[in-house]
Amino acid sequence: MKLFLRSKGISFETSLDLDEAVSLLKKDARVSDFALKLIAEYERDFTRLSEQQVAWIFYMAAQTQQRKEVVKLGKVAAKSKDDFKRLYDSMATAQQKIARPIMRTKCGDVTLRICFAAGAKWNNAIFVNDNSGYDASDRKSFGRIDADGTFTPMRDCTRDVIAALVEVDGNIRGAMVRYGKLTGSCSICARKLTDADSVARGIGPVCENRWF
Ligand SMILES: [Zn+2]
Repeated sequence: MKLFLRSKGISFETSLDLDEAVSLLKKDARVSDFALKLIAEYERDFTRLSEQQVAWIFYMAAQTQQRKEVVKLGKVAAKSKDDFKRLYDSMATAQQKIARPIMRTKCGDVTLRICFAAGAKWNNAIFVNDNSGYDASDRKSFGRIDADGTFTPMRDCTRDVIAALVEVDGNIRGAMVRYGKLTGSCSICARKLTDADSVARGIGPVCENRWF
């Protein structure tokens, strides 16, 4: 089902029905007072809920569902022997020549933007987001890679994101080149590839030489 949340100006899809959405919210310890109020109204007489109230129930239930998924992915990541040490080390090497190295890549439907955290607070960890800007309200936050290569999934992480990271870690240059060929822009500096040779190779030679 596709829903539109007017007050947030967003459309989203859900596979839940209303009963399932309500029962998910009822089991969520972090549920908001606003959600509790809607649940109470639902239980009093669900036919009196407005279309927007129903959309809010589905929206909050989808957030609860995603939080549960992230907890699950975190447990899987903690147990798994996979890490992203090669990716971390490649970023750290690039950082010796590029002040703040960033790489962008696309794997299937997943677009990743991988860069060091700004500021010292995160102990030089790498953050994995989607490719929207810092001020974009719908910017997705996928997770963090620490210096030992361990991955901590964050709010918007999915199985596809982890699969994409495994692919990137296995072939960093290949992931950059694929991005360049798919988008026509350099994975590292995001500038449009103009030179015929760069377009054919999928990466800008200056960036490539500085990174690797
Ligand atoms: Zn470049």
